[in-house]
Amino acid sequence: MNSKTFKVAALAGDGIGPEVMREAIKVLRAVEDKFPVRFNIIEAPVGWAGIDAAGNALPDATLALCKQSDAILFGSVGLPERDPTVPRDQRPERAALLRLRREFQLFANLRPVVLWKELAHACPLVKERQGAGIDILVVRELTAGLYFGTPKSIETLGNGQKRATDTLIYSTSEIERIANVAFLAAQERAKSAAGRKPKVTSIDKANVLENGVLWREVVSDVGKRYPDVALEHMLVDNTAMQLMLKPSQFDVLLCENMFGDILSDEAAALAGSLGMVPSASLGAARGDRFFGLYEPAGGTAPDIAGKDRANPIAQILSAALMLQYSFKLGEAHDAIFKAIGKAIADGNRSGDIFNPADSSAKKVGTRAMGDSIIAAI
Ligand code: NAD
Repeated sequence: MNSKTFKVAALAGDGIGPEVMREAIKVLRAVEDKFPVRFNIIEAPVGWAGIDAAGNALPDATLALCKQSDAILFGSVGLPERDPTVPRDQRPERAALLRLRREFQLFANLRPVVLWKELAHACPLVKERQGAGIDILVVRELTAGLYFGTPKSIETLGNGQKRATDTLIYSTSEIERIANVAFLAAQERAKSAAGRKPKVTSIDKANVLENGVLWREVVSDVGKRYPDVALEHMLVDNTAMQLMLKPSQFDVLLCENMFGDILSDEAAALAGSLGMVPSASLGAARGDRFFGLYEPAGGTAPDIAGKDRANPIAQILSAALMLQYSFKLGEAHDAIFKAIGKAIADGNRSGDIFNPADSSAKKVGTRAMGDSIIAAI
């Protein structure tokens, strides 16, 4: 059987990064055993590991590796005790992660939020509000809007006052490209979940912001190219409320940068633990594939690092997203997703999702959690 080979830059980083990356790589090796695909995985230091190895949070050799790779699988970077010892612009999150986002123009951030029924206890919503289950994809624009628009300043006025200015700017093409990602993702999700009707809910503040008016107009136009995907528009304040009241109504949430920043964290809380939430940051499409950086939503969790206590699922799901969006290996993505479901259904729980009241659940470490997923692939 002919197998295709993909080159992956694996940057584990700091804290729990190396522990959870090890499990994700084990899962990718298990995928090679089941599917006609090979992964040329090359590990390189980033974050404090980069500073210690080469004096820089994103060493030149690491950046060069990323440029030669088909995708970046990223752990997490930063250590609260060490970060303040170097100037702000040299600290790992800024010097490595933000730089990679800029370098590869990763304009689309995708964060799937899934609450498995066995983990209902970990969700902050009461069971009645969880409905038939929570499975939402937040698609956030990542490189424009209020965080990047200029002018951006704090001026000192003559009367003892200061004045701060931020500028919210979006152009048609910036809205179009993120809207396309959302509609394509809705189609892709419908393929792997029988019976799911693809829907995009586009978030704006069209009642008071000119940006919202343009956003709504452009998203509606893009939507016409995807007649199989339902489109609805919702104001951001109502969305914040609806996520708490009836999250099961959402499929794909399409957001500009700041609204997505806030709503994606609100939505992530519904999954019960940061250890369950992956993310993909995508750049320009190459045909039907995207170059992307894939990482867990959480950070380096120094409180549990090196103790075999981290939940590897967010990192493993990040690897699964890489298969889906960068390599178009939808079946392999689904196999990982199902294996995680099986491992959870069998009662395996890392500490963050363990419920002592559940007699069918057993607390396991990072390695054992990874092993239970591999066994189910
Ligand atoms: P954190 O996400 O590392 O931890 C918050 C809480 O969630 C902790 O109690 C931690 O134990 C728990 N947690 C996170 N991931 C988990 C997992 N996989 N399994 C089980 N529990 C998990 O956030 P923080 O403590 O605010 O930040 C720690 C460091 O990480 C800081 O230096 C911060 O700058 C950095 N950080 C990096 C990234 C990134 O690399 N993208 C993102 C966020 C924070």
